[in-house]
Amino acid sequence: MQQLQDFAGRTALVTGGASGIGLACAELLRARGATVVVADLDADGAQRAARRLGATGHGVDVADRQAVAALRAALEADGLRIDRLVNCAGIVQDPLPPDALPHDTWRRVLAIDLEGTYACCAEFGSAMARRGGGAIVNIASVAGMRSMPLHAYSPAKAAVISLGESLAAEWGRSGVRVNTVSPGYTVTAALQGQIDKGLRDPEKLKANSALGVLIRPEHIAAAIVFLLSDDAQMVTGVNLPVDAGWLVAGSWST
Ligand code: NAD
Repeated sequence: MQQLQDFAGRTALVTGGASGIGLACAELLRARGATVVVADLDADGAQRAARRLGATGHGVDVADRQAVAALRAALEADGLRIDRLVNCAGIVQDPLPPDALPHDTWRRVLAIDLEGTYACCAEFGSAMARRGGGAIVNIASVAGMRSMPLHAYSPAKAAVISLGESLAAEWGRSGVRVNTVSPGYTVTAALQGQIDKGLRDPEKLKANSALGVLIRPEHIAAAIVFLLSDDAQMVTGVNLPVDAGWLVAGSWST
């Protein structure tokens, strides 16, 4: 049987690739034969990951559209034409009522999680469309699908889901697929920080999922890489929750 999840000859950019879900994606894409570029606000972390994986590492702030454009120009000057993009760069917020949530925090969450995702799609997806093909996976969250006291993060992620649909329609005839993955609570640095602050209880998270387990970054990466692969060549414009069944079982807990 043809190996459809072989990424030989593909060039993938993973934003937020220095840690967590992005790092797991970069690892899996390298293991499947892709040329990988890791880009992250944490430039040292990106370089470290790249050295370990045999990839290329770059520092970038995805909230800075000019910096994203400059990254594309630099990669193209090095002969790296991105045809697979994973937008994992993101930040979370603490659950807070609106009168306690600093407006600067609200704007920063939107600037990174939504505008940063858009900037990378606009730069790299447009180039894919001009070249006639490619695939993008944006990372939203179950928090963009269900109400939570995360009044910056949830609307940013809901908009990321909507953006995936509009860009899929925009670029379909150009051979560019755009899909979204919405992780449930996944044990990465971001979630560990919330557990350490006592804002999340891992036992409760397990109990609230249908499968009764905690999700690890590799579980999310497997779904992302499937959507980037030719196995998913007829899949575009979808939002795939990878949540161990939290969406169907979470509301059963009292
Ligand atoms: P993480 O903190 O481990 O990784 C996020 C990475 O993004 C970090 O390396 C960070 O340096 C980078 N980053 C932050 N701001 C950036 C910027 N402006 N420009 C470039 N890079 C930047 O977190 P993670 O859990 O792996 O999160 C990855 C994505 O998954 C995020 O979009 C997050 O919202 C989403 N997500 C995570 C969970 C979870 O439970 N971990 C659940 C749902 C969605």
